[in-house]
Amino acid sequence: MDLTTAEPLLRDRLARTEERIAAACAAAGRPRTAVTLIAVTKTISAELTALLPQLGVADLAENRPQVLWQKHPQIPNVRWHFIGHLQRNKIERTIPLTALLHSADSPRLLASLNDFGREHNIKVPVLIEFNCSGEAAKSGLPIDDWQTIAEQLATLANLAPRGLMTMAAYGATEAITRKTFAHLRELSLKIQEKTGLTLPELSMGMSEDFESAIAEGSTMIRLGSVLFDGLGTP
Ligand SMILES: *Cc1c(COP(=O)(O)O)cnc(C)c1O
Repeated sequence: MDLTTAEPLLRDRLARTEERIAAACAAAGRPRTAVTLIAVTKTISAELTALLPQLGVADLAENRPQVLWQKHPQIPNVRWHFIGHLQRNKIERTIPLTALLHSADSPRLLASLNDFGREHNIKVPVLIEFNCSGEAAKSGLPIDDWQTIAEQLATLANLAPRGLMTMAAYGATEAITRKTFAHLRELSLKIQEKTGLTLPELSMGMSEDFESAIAEGSTMIRLGSVLFDGLGTP
């Protein structure tokens, strides 16, 4: 699909999605500004991705380092989020391009990110990814590891932990999905209590379940297919 055909469709998708986000916020008694829409651009070309800031979307996400490296110089003036598994040997090239890493998913990765922060004299902003759904295939730390992670975070001075991230199980019922999201919220409170950290962000909710996530306190929803299905592959 060429850009002139795709642009009005994309504009319309964004408007309809925005209405759903606003309605979900209103239903939850939360201000619209409490929830950031992050467009997950992994299925669309750099050309289509480049339309997003003009259409008012300033937070974009990729899940593969190479694609982020490629798109980043082409699309300035946005915040890039990284939401996929990050191998430690890709930290050096990826973190400088990333406003927020959502997927810190192992003690080893956290330690390496902290090393990177120390070498560059910065605090690396991260979300800790937990597997709250219990699905074997899902990425993220097991919930039972939370105390160990909390203790580790307290020792890593060059990280800026901002919150937690999770994914609901694929195809789960709405009731189960809401439980998963509620679980992440409760986990965040426990970690904050134990560490004294302030963790304002909950990155949860995708195309299939963002309304449930907003009801459970999500501050960042990561939307791909609801915005881009049918608009073309890279
Ligand atoms: C692809 C992806 C999304 C977006 O998923 P949709 O169901 O297409 O909205 C969100 N989060 C992560 C981690 C992803 O990999």
